[in-house]
Amino acid sequence: MGDLASKVEEIRSEAEEKLRSATTEKELLEIKGKYFGRKGALSEILRSLPTLPVEERRVVGQKANETRKFLESLFDESLERIKEEARKRKAAASFVDVTLPGGMLPPGHRHPITATMEEINRVFSRLGFTIFGGPDIETDYYNFEALNIPKEHPARDMQDTFYVENLDRDILLRTHTSPIQIRVMEKLKPPVRVIAPGTVYRCDSDVTHSPMFHQVEGFAVDRDITFADLKGVLTEFCALMFGQDRGVRFRPSYFPFTEPSAEVDIECVICGGEGCRVCSETGWLEILGCGMIDPEVFRYVGYDPEEFSGFAFGMGVERIAMLRHGIGDIRLFFENDLRFLTQF
Ligand SMILES: [Zn+2]
Repeated sequence: MGDLASKVEEIRSEAEEKLRSATTEKELLEIKGKYFGRKGALSEILRSLPTLPVEERRVVGQKANETRKFLESLFDESLERIKEEARKRKAAASFVDVTLPGGMLPPGHRHPITATMEEINRVFSRLGFTIFGGPDIETDYYNFEALNIPKEHPARDMQDTFYVENLDRDILLRTHTSPIQIRVMEKLKPPVRVIAPGTVYRCDSDVTHSPMFHQVEGFAVDRDITFADLKGVLTEFCALMFGQDRGVRFRPSYFPFTEPSAEVDIECVICGGEGCRVCSETGWLEILGCGMIDPEVFRYVGYDPEEFSGFAFGMGVERIAMLRHGIGDIRLFFENDLRFLTQF
C-alpha cells in the first residue's frame, strides 16, 4: 500500500518543481501530459484503483485526486506567471528611454540636377535675368504653334512628343521650356530678360536621353539687341560655369524659332581640347543652342519686330551636370541610388 501512496507523493513533488521552474507554455503542457494529463502517471494510478484492496483504494484514490487538483491549479498559476513575464519582456523591449540622446538622421543634400539648375539660375541672375516658370502640361499652341512650328512642320519630328490620351491632340507634355517664353511675352512688354528652368518630356530613352529631363531656356528682348549681346551673355555664362580660361565657339545651326541660329561649344572638359572619346576627338563639347528670336514669334505675342529684337537660348541641365561631373549615363540621375547621389 505504501508503494502507490509514495509514488503519488513523488509525482506531486516532481511535477510541482517542474511547473514552478517552467518558462514556456509548451513546457507546461509537456509536464501536464507526463504527470497529470489524461494519459499521465496519475491517471494510470487512478485507473489501477479497482485492482487494489478497499482500504488502500480509498487512501491512494483520495491522495491522487487531491494531487491532481493541486497540480491543475498550479498549472493555471504557472501559465499566468509565464504570460505575465512575456508581457514584461515585451514592454521592456519597446521601452523608450527619453533621456538617451536622439538617433540622428543622416543629413541629405541637393540632387546633382537641382544643384546644377540652381547654379545656372544663379549665374543668369547675376547677368540681370529674372526666373519664370510655366506648366508641364501644355497646349500645342504654346509648345509648337506660337514658336513658329506649325502643324506638319518637319521640326516637330525632331521632338518625339507625349500627347495626353483621351483628350484632343492639342494637350501634351511640354517638349521644351520655350512655351514659357511665349507666356511671359504675352504678359510683359520689353525690355524683358528671362530665364525659364523646368522639367520637359520626350519619348526617348538611352544613355544620353531620358524621357524626362530638365532645360533652362532664356531670352532677352529690347531695342537694339544684337547677336553681339547674345555672344557676350553666353560667353560670360560659359566662363562663370566652366572657368574663365575655357574656350567657347559659336557654330551656325537651325531652330524654327530663331534666325540666325547657333550652337555653342566649349573646350572639352575632359581633354582640354586635345581630343578624346567624350568629345569624339574634336576637342569641343556642344552645350547649348541659341539664336536671334525670329520676327514671326514676335508677331504671335504682339511685339513689333520693327521696334524690338531679342535673342533666346536653351540648354539641357543633365548634359551640363554630366560634363561638370564626368558622368557617362544620364539614367544614373533618376535611379535614386544613394551610392551614386551621395558622391556630389
Ligand atoms: Zn575631349
